[in-house]
Amino acid sequence: MKKEQQVASIIEILKQEYPDAICTLDYENPVQLLVATQLAAQCTDARVNIVTKTLFQKYPDAEAFATADYETLCEEIHSTGFFRSKARHIIDCCQILCEKYNGEVPSDMKELTARPGVGRKTASIIRGDVYHLPAVVTDTHAMRLSYRMGLTQYRDNPYKIEMDLAKIIPPDEQADFCHRLVEHGRAVCMARRPNCAECALADYCKKVGVKS
Ligand code: SF4
Repeated sequence: MKKEQQVASIIEILKQEYPDAICTLDYENPVQLLVATQLAAQCTDARVNIVTKTLFQKYPDAEAFATADYETLCEEIHSTGFFRSKARHIIDCCQILCEKYNGEVPSDMKELTARPGVGRKTASIIRGDVYHLPAVVTDTHAMRLSYRMGLTQYRDNPYKIEMDLAKIIPPDEQADFCHRLVEHGRAVCMARRPNCAECALADYCKKVGVKS
């Protein structure tokens, strides 16, 4: 089967399986999505949503986070892990947003990734979900599934996987495609025990590294 045919089939099946897949972090504005994504590093979205439910009431925007007390914020985000560096990055990042961008979140990849604690994954979530720009989000599910399906030869290199997916997934499909990979990774293609027997993608998946 040609790669184009494989990719087109995978995209269509994922659309049918997960028509409404969206980011599973809760937020009401771009700054909150930026902060939630920073908190989600090495933490589950479910845990982050518990923390941000009250956090965003106290700090609804960049100005509020920019003037937050560091030690207090550390306590408030403690359960998300790596809380000291996350608190520092969130405060520093929001101070820059206030100083340079009038409290708004930029859309440019270079400008986003120049901010403290903002990597390509976080920047891509902002670009895709806020600005509806082409954006491949290489989280743990997207990386694992892309490798198993044979869409990339890289298993652990988020940048190279992002570049490989960006070449084969149509630009206007990229953000939704990655959200659907997350859902499929949670429901069927789990890290330890992928359920290939029940997988709708089985005919189009190379199952690289999967024991039968
Ligand atoms: S066939 Fe197996 S390895 Fe491939 S996507 Fe489905 S569950 Fe994952």
